[in-house]
Amino acid sequence: NDIRATKFDASKLFRLDGQVAVITGSGRGLGRAIAECYASVGATIILWDYENPTEAAKEISEKYGVKCLSVGCDVSNSKNVEEAIDKISQQFNGKIDIFVANAGVAWQSGSILNSENQDDKNWHRVMNVDLNGVYYCCKNIGKVFKANNSGSLIITASMSGSIVNVPNYQAPYNAAKSACIHLAKSLAVEFTEFNARVNSISPGYLDTGLSDFLPVEIRSRWWSLIPMGREAFPEEIASAYLYLASNASTYTTGTNLVVDGGYSVV
Ligand code: ADP
Repeated sequence: NDIRATKFDASKLFRLDGQVAVITGSGRGLGRAIAECYASVGATIILWDYENPTEAAKEISEKYGVKCLSVGCDVSNSKNVEEAIDKISQQFNGKIDIFVANAGVAWQSGSILNSENQDDKNWHRVMNVDLNGVYYCCKNIGKVFKANNSGSLIITASMSGSIVNVPNYQAPYNAAKSACIHLAKSLAVEFTEFNARVNSISPGYLDTGLSDFLPVEIRSRWWSLIPMGREAFPEEIASAYLYLASNASTYTTGTNLVVDGGYSVV
């Protein structure tokens, strides 16, 4: 069994040569950083976003010298997700090694009693992408992993799945991300039947431009609550995804890896 090295070589543990990795929501932001991190250690990458990120795929392929394909697919459409995963799987003779369910929306919904929340649109929008979309991906990649008797599935949860966002409120986001953390735990146990691992990652506040539209008063209040005093760079979160994708974590399943600069411990 190549998990047990007679001579320990940590430099090989984090290599992903010959592995196929699919990352949803990877056209930009954290997803793109994860894709670049995996590409830098030799993985074949499939970028996946709402709109087909063909340019990004070309850039990654040139920058890292790996194969990088791309698909355009809305993760909140069950049928489309099934077709997309089927198609990718066929392209690689059924072999997908790593799947990162990362696509999400961080809608700032405010109080659920606000007049603009009375039509339930924010709730459904967040649930459809951040929870239903993740579920559709898990279900379909589970079939691929079962056929391969291996695989690593990583769900992008959030620190917001365990804490409450103040002074703004994001109840739908908190609820969806909390559900993602427990979905990962439940599937982790289920997927041991076919030797696949499932984990979630809970990033803290992240500087990807996603929150740029918020007033600086809100953002600086956030920063003041982070023990490390700053938001994360996407690269600092992406390396946690490398641990969970790689042979460094063959005994790690059902965990929620929190990478939040200490936010959730104070
Ligand atoms: P972060 O800062 O956490 O990376 P972003 O909003 O920048 O957050 O990234 C989320 C990614 O998910 C974006 O690339 C976005 O286009 C993608 N995304 C959002 N909703 C969907 C969806 N329904 N289907 C596929 N991709 C989506």
